[in-house]
Amino acid sequence: MTDPVREIKERINVVDFLRSYLQLLPAGRNFKALCPFHKEKTPSFMVSPDRQSWHCFGCGEGGDVFTFLMKYENLEFYEALRVLAEKAGVELRSIARTGEREFNVLFDANAAAAEYFKAMLGKTPAVLEYLKKRGLKQETIEEFGLGFAPDQHEGLLLWLRGKSIRPEDSVRAGLAGRNERGLYFDRFRGRVMFPIANHTGRVVGFTGRILPEYERPDLGKYVNSPETPIFVKSRILYGFYRTKGDIRNANAALLVEGQMDFLMVWQDGVKNVAATSGTALTPEHLSTLRRFADRLIVSFDTDEAGWAAGERAIDLAQALDFSVRVVTVPGAKDPADYVAAHPGSFEGLVLSARHAMEFYFERYGFKEGNALSLEEKKKAARGVLGKARNIASPIEKMHWIKKLAEISGVSEQALLEEMERLPAGPPAVQTGRQDLPESGAERGSQEASGPAPQTLTRRELIAERLLGLALSENSLPALKEAEPYLPPLYREAYRELVRGRPDESNASPRVQELAGLIQLRAGLEMGEHSTELMRQLKKEYLKDRQHELSLKIAEAERAGNDGRRDQLMQELASVAKEMHTI
Ligand SMILES: [Zn+2]
Repeated sequence: MTDPVREIKERINVVDFLRSYLQLLPAGRNFKALCPFHKEKTPSFMVSPDRQSWHCFGCGEGGDVFTFLMKYENLEFYEALRVLAEKAGVELRSIARTGEREFNVLFDANAAAAEYFKAMLGKTPAVLEYLKKRGLKQETIEEFGLGFAPDQHEGLLLWLRGKSIRPEDSVRAGLAGRNERGLYFDRFRGRVMFPIANHTGRVVGFTGRILPEYERPDLGKYVNSPETPIFVKSRILYGFYRTKGDIRNANAALLVEGQMDFLMVWQDGVKNVAATSGTALTPEHLSTLRRFADRLIVSFDTDEAGWAAGERAIDLAQALDFSVRVVTVPGAKDPADYVAAHPGSFEGLVLSARHAMEFYFERYGFKEGNALSLEEKKKAARGVLGKARNIASPIEKMHWIKKLAEISGVSEQALLEEMERLPAGPPAVQTGRQDLPESGAERGSQEASGPAPQTLTRRELIAERLLGLALSENSLPALKEAEPYLPPLYREAYRELVRGRPDESNASPRVQELAGLIQLRAGLEMGEHSTELMRQLKKEYLKDRQHELSLKIAEAERAGNDGRRDQLMQELASVAKEMHTI
């Protein structure tokens, strides 16, 4: 059987194809151009005729004719396939296998549902008015594909049937239910709909907020899609597919709760934001963010439940060696309310976010104008010391103990002794996760999400720069000491580059491709310094190690294995210590 994708690639030359979109300038045996996917003044977009591929070293996007077309024209893989097949004169036969269909139908159903909800919103001005009254702008509503589920039993089901999606597949996709009489019904009725996309940007589920006029005590204010093979709640952060680049560039992430907070804050100009939605914060959420940023700004509601949730987030984030700050919204219930009342001012709030320890001073009672009795003071100091003990950096730890001494009037020495006497135990880390994903769910969702371009993690990005730089300076052997910190694939590519002779290579295609990419990069002068990159690489390596450990900790917690958890927590702490020696 012939492979239409390969056939198309053989017939369409990437240089000719991209030339119809971009102005290509010669660069040695390659071509360069201004990247259409990010703003730039000097070209970092390279096209390689040898490898029939393109890559932007500015934003990290890259791929072949398919990925270019998908990204440029915002097409799904199968749409791009159709366009290119026509261009290349390749006939498409049935290309979907059964297993793939079973899986893809979940994506198709969710995508079709998003379309339906959007169309319904367009037809219901009152709901649009409601969203605008809550402060959302038209552009934001469109950008994040908000919609409306009318109060009907079979509105969506009929629409999906019209798209050849069977009711049983709608149930599997979490969009419909079935009652005891065997009748199917829409899961979401009379609700504003927020599509939830996975980290590559495909809709995998929804949150539906009931319209005020339909509110009833027996109906949940929010209804979420259930877990499905493509919707793994403990991993997915709302909006992350859209903001991960901003988070990486800012090296900081603002974490909020729920879609409305996310949208209002994003609309207000704070783009490096992500939100939990429909589930409590998990270590997986945080360690995903950790791979993109060093700093975390936690925002939470000012009620008691909000404080408790915030405290959990801080402790977990500090265990992952995030530098944590806390932003609270004065005089408002939540960030969304605050932005609605004071548009244009959230960024200022984020900039003035307090250090997590300052938050703890207040939490335990050290507030201005709050006179404490000796007993209260002791209790408050113990609370703060319990948190300070978990700080990985000794310098930072001493800084806060000094501060505590100032505020409490107790000597540093006494505080240190008190800290020693606190009952031992690792910082509390809870997963808040109730249900397990179906096995292989993540792998499956990645496979089925098509060849969408992947955003590199910081570690990969740094590895790529470092190798490109070393190659252009002819100093590859000097990178030996950095080798253990390279991501596995880059390590192999490094060896491949040191070995030379690409024609005789027996490395895997992925490694060869990466080595080729690094050679392509070496053609760009980026004005970088290798010792600094090496330092950063080691840091990212340790961060990834923390990521792995935190996943294992979550696992041990779920299994109720306290011994293993404590051991892992110790390992985590030693990684954090090593981090501070860099
Ligand atoms: Zn770019």
